[in-house]
Amino acid sequence: TKCCEGQHFEEGQLSRYGNIELSPAAGVLNYGQGLFEGTKAYRKENGRVLLFRPEQNAIRMKIGAERMCMASPSIEHFVHALKQTVLANKRWIPPPGKGSLYLRPLLLGTGPVLGLAPAPEYTFLIYASPVRNYFKEGSAPLNLHVEENFDRASRRGTGNVKTISNYAPVLMAQTTAKKRGFSDVLYLDSATKKNLEEVSSCNIFIAKGKCIATPATNGTILSGITRKSVIEIAGDLGYQVEERAVGVDELIEADEVFCTGTAVGVAPVGSITYQDKRMEYITGSGTICEELNDTISGIQTGTIEDKKGWIIEVD
Ligand code: PMP
Repeated sequence: TKCCEGQHFEEGQLSRYGNIELSPAAGVLNYGQGLFEGTKAYRKENGRVLLFRPEQNAIRMKIGAERMCMASPSIEHFVHALKQTVLANKRWIPPPGKGSLYLRPLLLGTGPVLGLAPAPEYTFLIYASPVRNYFKEGSAPLNLHVEENFDRASRRGTGNVKTISNYAPVLMAQTTAKKRGFSDVLYLDSATKKNLEEVSSCNIFIAKGKCIATPATNGTILSGITRKSVIEIAGDLGYQVEERAVGVDELIEADEVFCTGTAVGVAPVGSITYQDKRMEYITGSGTICEELNDTISGIQTGTIEDKKGWIIEVD
């Protein structure tokens, strides 16, 4: 669906997956005006199809669009388009326990611009793909590398926005870490290099006893929807949850470390390497990570009652 400056996005249409045509002068190709989202559709035991908090993705895209000087679809338009995409791809949604249908909404500056300026036209589209595990480790614990040579985001930048231009700059850190046998990179804050930020595509939590801490959303980390949901679930389960600056030195004392994200769920971290130290964490049955993962994935797949109104039945 397309939209010109100051107008609403027109009703979209479904089309077979394929290439899209773009002007070489499109804003997204020249000046990086592109945003994306990620969410999943899950099949319930009874065959119904569920979406998890899709309006949160719509809100995040809207906030991001303001920061990137882009027009954005309304929350209703976004959720309606997601539902239509899911319905049209229903046969691709794996059975319960066998994965989900990943949905990738994209908002692109598609109008032509030569001099630096916001594009005069925007395109909103969604594509879908069945997925299973995000990391090659499957559900096995991750081993992370604390990155000191690259920053993911700087203060007053766009670290809290899901813009495409945040991702290419970290590919080098990520691919280097993977080549060295790590699952992914854990970034530190760019100003002091003393506090945790997040992983390339998920947020980070540490746990000690009944206390859980995660870096506060201070403008440089992505405000994850899984993060926000896990904070609420952990509070309900009786944990003390703190959103604050989490020092890299706290990694030494932590019992558990885990990552949260649409792609990974709540994923255990087995070890973290920082400078020349390798720290190991408790993983497996009976952990806080497992309890939180079981709870959120139960809500997402409809095996645990959704008391919070987080689930939308699509069909
Ligand atoms: N941080 C980054 C940088 C991400 O790309 C993602 C994935 N959207 C997340 C965190 C997790 O966010 P969410 O829980 O909304 O998927």
